[in-house]
Amino acid sequence: MGVLSDIVQRVDLDHVEILRRGGANLGNEYFALCKCPVCGHIYLVELEVDTLYISAEDLKQRVLIFGVDFSCVACGSAFPAGPRIGTKAPESMQVTWQDLSESPWRWVTERTRGSG
Ligand SMILES: [Zn+2]
Repeated sequence: MGVLSDIVQRVDLDHVEILRRGGANLGNEYFALCKCPVCGHIYLVELEVDTLYISAEDLKQRVLIFGVDFSCVACGSAFPAGPRIGTKAPESMQVTWQDLSESPWRWVTERTRGSG
């Protein structure tokens, strides 16, 4: 019932589907979602190697973000330093089910992918 139940959790992500679409990184993939705190553009993140997937249609489009300043591909705003995902991330960077269902990333969970 709380706000947290509105947030898409890592366990909700369909890893098999991500890998099927070519999302493999360097092994031990650990996926999560985050969004731009300014414009809400959603990204898939691979935490093992700190990789941001910038296109839901083409998982080969990636940016390494470890120790690097990153600016949103949609609005150009610099991402804040510090945690970008999980409970320590700012609420403005957490992806809700509503956000996801309206995004091209909706295929990433069974729930938002729907049946057709
Ligand atoms: Zn943005």
